[in-house]
Amino acid sequence: MSEQFKPSDLLFDKEHIWHPYTSMHDPLPVFPVKSANGVRLKLDNDTEIIDGMSSWWCAVHGYNHPVLNKAIQDQLQNMSHVMFGGITHQPAIDLAKLLIDLSPKNMEKVFFSDSGSVSVEVAMKMALQYWFTTGEKKKNKFLSIRSGYHGDTFNAMSVCDPVTGMHEIFKGVLPVNYFADSPKGGFHEAWNSSDFESMQNMLEKHHEELAAVILEPIVQGAGGMKFYHPQYLLELRRACDEYKVLLILDEIATGFGRTGKFFACEHANINPDIMCVGKAITGGYLSFAATLASKKIADGISEGSPGCFMHGPTFMGNPLACSVGVASLNLLLDSGWKEKVNAIEKQLITHLSKAKELKQVKDVRILGAIGVIEMNEPVKMASIQRQFVDHGVWVRPFGKLVYIMPPFVISEKDLTELCEALVKVVSLQ
Ligand code: PMP
Repeated sequence: MSEQFKPSDLLFDKEHIWHPYTSMHDPLPVFPVKSANGVRLKLDNDTEIIDGMSSWWCAVHGYNHPVLNKAIQDQLQNMSHVMFGGITHQPAIDLAKLLIDLSPKNMEKVFFSDSGSVSVEVAMKMALQYWFTTGEKKKNKFLSIRSGYHGDTFNAMSVCDPVTGMHEIFKGVLPVNYFADSPKGGFHEAWNSSDFESMQNMLEKHHEELAAVILEPIVQGAGGMKFYHPQYLLELRRACDEYKVLLILDEIATGFGRTGKFFACEHANINPDIMCVGKAITGGYLSFAATLASKKIADGISEGSPGCFMHGPTFMGNPLACSVGVASLNLLLDSGWKEKVNAIEKQLITHLSKAKELKQVKDVRILGAIGVIEMNEPVKMASIQRQFVDHGVWVRPFGKLVYIMPPFVISEKDLTELCEALVKVVSLQ
């Protein structure tokens, strides 16, 4: 048994360390974690809890995975970091090759960066620079759909949902962009063409000033955990072409198998112009992301003035992150990710559907390895979190949404335990 956390350190944490989306005056409780292995997090008192979150979509292979550990350790012996300006290295080349092979067929150019939000900034900047250099300077706005989420940096925030996002707080400084209604029909429901009307109208009205439409394909994550119909993406691709507007797909949460396809846009078989990937790209080991673009975008940017894309983060192409990314992608491909995700989906349907009968529950939605219970009322975060831990699982809800996206390596038994705890705790609200 390793040492307990010192109470003074936990007090220090409370007083000095910002945790996500919580007050510095009265922060929500945090649970000290000593280690993580497989699908389990070990707490301060040595109890182990089953992880339902994959650390916010990332840890698809679980924690402390020998193959990923070895990839990092081997790379560490070689070099942990080297600048990417004027230098290249094998891990970056190998990762770019894999991303190009696995992504939609027109994705040919790879820009590495350090986080999902930055990859969204890069994607938006690429779209702007493409139109600037091809002589269409008026095309400098973005169109998205409501209930979206794309990150916490300023351009990314400007295309997050205008109500639940941070538009109100940063009014006046946030770039002003356009929003169409999000599709109402679910992934499994019959397609209703009226779902596309709002987007069609916005494109018709604003296309002359639009650089791109940006949205999350199929699954709207942090903005509402909604799954929409693939036909929407087909209509969108057609309309973007018709109105000369680029299409940016944010696959940061949906990429790498989570929805049952390797990339969610494969549900509709469409090609974006620009695509963002992150989160599970390193199997949850290091912060890393990439923005992929078509040759058309790269040519447009490179042929105009200044002749290069104006971005270059210090840690661009970090070799440790690239090597663990290569190992993680190969592991996904070799480990039969699709069968695993399908099996998780079946089990989620069996176990979570029971929650539909509870009076506290408005809806239950499942797609791939994502299970969502939408409550009638927002949950009380501090108390529900404690209850989940007491029931042996790690689940972090927000608002009315209690959801899980477990590591793909979770066993049938652990997933049963996770789902039973989820339904039980929901029934106690
Ligand atoms: N886009 C989507 C769809 C996301 O879910 C997230 C992260 N929750 C981001 C962008 C931002 O990524 P990061 O937190 O790595 O900056």
